[in-house]
Amino acid sequence: QEPRVIMDESAIRRALTRIAHEMVEKNKGIEGCILVGIRTRGVYLARRVAERILDIEGTPVPVGELDITRYRDDRPHGEGYRDSASEGIGGDLPCSIRDKRIILIDDVLYTGRTIRAALDALMDFGRPQSIQLAVLVDRGHRELPIRPDYVGKNVPTSRFEQIEVSLTEVDDSDCVTILHP
Ligand code: 5GP
Ligand code: MG
Repeated sequence: QEPRVIMDESAIRRALTRIAHEMVEKNKGIEGCILVGIRTRGVYLARRVAERILDIEGTPVPVGELDITRYRDDRPHGEGYRDSASEGIGGDLPCSIRDKRIILIDDVLYTGRTIRAALDALMDFGRPQSIQLAVLVDRGHRELPIRPDYVGKNVPTSRFEQIEVSLTEVDDSDCVTILHP
């Protein structure tokens, strides 16, 4: 079956603008917040949201990155296994996260295992005041008690379907499509 477009360029733009407004409202401004994108596409989403927030509030918000591949708990023998603390954290945070409000951003939320791993990685950096979660697409099928605070679009999917997120920073257009098996 043909891939179906569920968000085009304007839908993505509007969703990110709305999420930026929601973040500012929920946090009563953006002071003390740090946006942390999950590599790869979460980082570009975080940078876009930070630009929107700068437009809205006139305040720059720091953006960091996390690469949680090795923290995933469901790949016991593969590349993704976090086998020792000395392996370090794949990440790049702009400043101390102590007592900051962290807003994690990812492209697609599915089982929740990536976010659980991201929380684990963040806790190694310090003790933030709070952690919130923003995703462009929530496709359901959670296996952990994790829910997003900000959602671009809820897309009920079957386990066999695949969401494809394209962003101009790394792909040839801005769009979200659903691929049926
Ligand atoms: P989870 O850990 O919640 O099972 O999956 C979320 C992570 O896997 C995210 O980092 C996301 O990029 C990726 N992911 C899971 N399902 C999909 C999907 O259908 N499409 C895309 N593009 N990424 C997915
Ligand atoms: Mg990902």
